[in-house]
Amino acid sequence: MDLFEYQGKQYFARYDIPVSPGGPADTVDEAVKEANQAGYPVVVKAQVQVGGRGKAGGIKLADNEAEVREHAGNILGMDIKGHTVNRLWVEKASDIEDEYYASFTLDRAAKKHLLMLSAEGGVEIEAVAESNPDAIVKLHIDPVDGLDLEVARQSCIKAKLPETAVDGAAEILVKLYRCYTEGDCDLAEINPLILKPTGEVHALDAKVTLDNSAAYRHPEWEAFAATEVLDDREQMAKEKGLQYIGLDGSVGIIANGAGLAMSTLDVVNQVGGTAANFLDIGGGANADVMAGALEVINFDENVVSILINIFGGITRGEEVAKGIVEAMSRVDLRAPIVIRLDGTNAEEGRQILLDAGIPQEKLRSEPTMLEAALAAVSTANA
Ligand code: GDP
Ligand code: MN
Repeated sequence: MDLFEYQGKQYFARYDIPVSPGGPADTVDEAVKEANQAGYPVVVKAQVQVGGRGKAGGIKLADNEAEVREHAGNILGMDIKGHTVNRLWVEKASDIEDEYYASFTLDRAAKKHLLMLSAEGGVEIEAVAESNPDAIVKLHIDPVDGLDLEVARQSCIKAKLPETAVDGAAEILVKLYRCYTEGDCDLAEINPLILKPTGEVHALDAKVTLDNSAAYRHPEWEAFAATEVLDDREQMAKEKGLQYIGLDGSVGIIANGAGLAMSTLDVVNQVGGTAANFLDIGGGANADVMAGALEVINFDENVVSILINIFGGITRGEEVAKGIVEAMSRVDLRAPIVIRLDGTNAEEGRQILLDAGIPQEKLRSEPTMLEAALAAVSTANA
């Protein structure tokens, strides 16, 4: 789950990472109230989950109430890269001497956490990685050892942060690491991390992605989930407890297991199609789960064909087949299904599908993943 900047800053504050005082606002009047409380000058910031808000005109400095009214009025309702601004964050403006970049993510290949740190902050890190990769210091952190202050200091020095910023930045790195690990983040990023003329170091922006799999030990995340930006399909899938991500192609995809689902997306792509979604129905694919999955896919108006890719390990082919037959009797599908059913009891499963007497143009079986993808894509692209 991605957090908005203001939520990220609230999360940071729990780990004692310094942020500017401010408050959220959904109307011009609320923005004025927050600005008066924070003290002028303030920055009025669009809350959308996309970078480059500054360049898009979604971040403005205001010296007085009239300017807050003007900027808040302009930014609310603004479209930034396809995201409508419904909320602002108004905070006390900071004087900036220097801007840096800092983040923690998981490097799955290395099986370690990864710190990325750069003296070139305030611009997109992808741009720095492109134009000046040496300006990004990367440090792998063994989760057992953690990150201590001295190692953090050395990284700041290596990243060529000015001497005056090293201690303050190192302290924030240690806190940010704690936020990232104890706070169960997939990503904790500060860009820019700023040095003020006073010598203080401070988080001016916050980008936090929470690890949804850890939600069970964070009841307080409920407050964030209420503002999570899900499209209608994703909302529907969530209510059904499905692992679903909406995409914008025309082949609806159902697979068991995240790895197989991703491979299915790849194969669809490879044969010239586009996936409408990622959907992993998991191991226990009974009729209810299958019906729910088909309902969500059927709800997506862009779906022209449906590809079901099941490899039975623990999941048994005849259970999946029964689920599909049952689901098709419950859901009136607009798009035809191509299924590849393999693995445990696949023979029995295919027989059940045949015996159900569903017409070929509504449901057909293909022996391999590639052939099934080709069939689904040729229908979708016809
Ligand atoms: P992003 O463009 O969406 O990443 O939004 P940021 O929150 O990172 O802000 C973009 C830029 O706006 C920063 O790099 C700063 O240059 C500028 N900015 C944001 N807040 C302040 C502030 O309090 N004071 C000043 N002077 N500039 C700010
Ligand atoms: Mn930023």
